[in-house]
Amino acid sequence: MVARYDLTTDLDLQDQLLTVRRGTAFWHRKVGELNDAELDGDTLLSGWNRRHLVAHVGYNARAISRLVYWANTGIETPMYSSPEDRNREIELGATMPTRALRHLNDHAAVSLNVEWRDTPAEKWENIVRTAQGRQVPLSETVWMRTREVWLHAIDLDNGARFSDVPISVLERLLGDITGAWRNRGTDPGFAIEVTGRPDLGVSGAGAGEASATSIQGSLSAVVSWASGRDTTALTVGRNIQPPRWL
Ligand code: ZN
Repeated sequence: MVARYDLTTDLDLQDQLLTVRRGTAFWHRKVGELNDAELDGDTLLSGWNRRHLVAHVGYNARAISRLVYWANTGIETPMYSSPEDRNREIELGATMPTRALRHLNDHAAVSLNVEWRDTPAEKWENIVRTAQGRQVPLSETVWMRTREVWLHAIDLDNGARFSDVPISVLERLLGDITGAWRNRGTDPGFAIEVTGRPDLGVSGAGAGEASATSIQGSLSAVVSWASGRDTTALTVGRNIQPPRWL
């Protein structure tokens, strides 16, 4: 029997599933606003036009579905067989007929949603491996996909902005990004302050240091900068290049 509701009873996870569904709907709305000719246009990601990006987001849903299968069955099914294969798939996908590309995007997202929904409560803690080689519980894939759909909707460059992204997603992104810099030791000493959000404190390796490199702006401006995208909304630090994140 097919469930019409999530099988997980974890309230936090249910909340995250709601956020990823909102993000997925947002992503599909932005893709739907583009006519076929506009799909040939550039994205904010260098080297990728919108067809590459739509193919990537579609194949990403399929790759995450493989992790859902892995957690549910115990049969190891990695996201991609290799980074080269992942890139080849995107290059090929970008040349597909437009209808097929849109179908891939829609269908892959619908199946992923169904697979998450039908995952029993006890399977969500099962460990899977991301494309970067991290071992994570299946529940982490909801956040992985959340990042993809919100950020790439902005990368489509047809009107989505960081201010459209839910606050909870922006907060978690900022924590992820500064955490990744800390783990790699690539933060040169930033003191990042979010305007109007003293509760977030100062983040970055330079927090509390007199010699810190100051970055200031609204939450959406700071996350836009930290994720390597537009910096113009910052109030302080616009010319400062952030380290790589992913
Ligand atoms: Zn991506």
